[in-house]
Amino acid sequence: MTERTSVIRPERQFLGDEHPFEAMMSRFDYAAQLLNLDRGLYKVLRNPDRQIIVSIPVLMDSGEVEVFTGYRVLYNNSRGPGKGGIRFAKNVTLDEVKALAAWMTWKCAVVNIPFGGAKGGVVCDPNDLSIGELERLTRRYTAGIIELLGPDTDVPAPDVNTNERIMAWVMDTYSMHHRHTVTAVVTGKPVEMGGSLGRREATGRGCMLVTKEALEHLGMPIKGARVAVQGFGNVGSVAADLLQKEGFTIVAVSDVSGGVYNPKGLDVRDLIAWRETNRYLPGYPKAETITNEQLLSLDCEVLLPAALENVITARNAGDIAAKVIVEGANGPTAAGADEILDRKGTFVVPDILANAGGVTVSYFEWVQDRSGYFWDEETVNRRLTNIMVHSFQHVLEVSKRYNVNMRIAAYTLAIDRVAAVHRLRGMYA
Ligand code: NAD
Repeated sequence: MTERTSVIRPERQFLGDEHPFEAMMSRFDYAAQLLNLDRGLYKVLRNPDRQIIVSIPVLMDSGEVEVFTGYRVLYNNSRGPGKGGIRFAKNVTLDEVKALAAWMTWKCAVVNIPFGGAKGGVVCDPNDLSIGELERLTRRYTAGIIELLGPDTDVPAPDVNTNERIMAWVMDTYSMHHRHTVTAVVTGKPVEMGGSLGRREATGRGCMLVTKEALEHLGMPIKGARVAVQGFGNVGSVAADLLQKEGFTIVAVSDVSGGVYNPKGLDVRDLIAWRETNRYLPGYPKAETITNEQLLSLDCEVLLPAALENVITARNAGDIAAKVIVEGANGPTAAGADEILDRKGTFVVPDILANAGGVTVSYFEWVQDRSGYFWDEETVNRRLTNIMVHSFQHVLEVSKRYNVNMRIAAYTLAIDRVAAVHRLRGMYA
């Protein structure tokens, strides 16, 4: 089946040895204490609004019926509809989906877009599914959670192992049930059917923007600043390309199979072309091959983890030489590494700020779908720049006010915003 792997992204693990929800909550608790959050609100924000578990029967190509398990968690919708991706992976758990849904709540609040947080997942190995099986699985999962979904209630997007094509099936299934086309029920769609220009590049672009802000804040020159990027997929390759265009020197990049390093700088466009034909980076002739572990400890100004979770841990945080870490991936730094990085004086732009460019342009997509009026790419990028730069400055201001690192500042800003809306709305009892 030639199409079998066309929608598949590499398998990833979630937060390794850490308990995902509690790892997220350890940072939440710190910020809640700083804010002196009242007990009642603390309890409300510590618990997801709704959690759905569905059984998904799928007719396989063999004629057998398989039953998969799917989740959707709507963590908080006080600021607007739930927003968050759907991931297909073998190791998806309800606990993981809950943690990711909470993260989405804080991320949307950090960049001040009118969404709450949600996340979904299906326990499956997409590498084992044909394209037909994947479509049937997607449609049945969508039907199973359809009461939650809707432009005003919960708006999914792609995540690990899901993509534009899968979002098109989600949109079509929802629209068939509602007897008319509802583009705004999902974001990250193909541009031809209501997707936004600039969405594919948005997360990498956001990373580039906050990296520039970080260096400017620290008084470090951009010209020639050396960057190592872990992960050369959507986020990593776009960020590397845009950073290079801004004058940074990309000294190393990696993918699942290993990395390449050239202290004089790599040509990102040339590497993208190499990856198109050779699939993996190692073997690229104009650089030496390194491991992913070596990449993390390279002598450079900026480290951009843009692959998977939990790569910077208490075990290797001490070896990191970069002055600035920009978290393109979700959860690349385990809670146990925070203190070590703080002690070393490493400036960390946390995931809920650094990679929020994606959800910001998802918000633009939702706005465009609802108004039926589409923006040109320059408008999308200008508005994205505005939001990312302001959000960075706002988090920085909070970090100075409370004398905390950027991660705790981002949580503090987000929780404060969500809590403020809860207080204004009051409790429906
Ligand atoms: P992707 O699948 O396009 O790329 C992932 C890259 O990581 C690939 O180059 C892959 O080879 C590499 N990789 C996989 N396992 C690895 C390993 N063990 N070691 C080193 N590299 C490895 O994914 P993406 O969309 O670029 O997402 C990357 C991260 O960014 C994820 O954590 C994702 O949740 C997060 N993120 C993505 C978006 C988005 O809009 N795409 C938005 C916010 C956050």
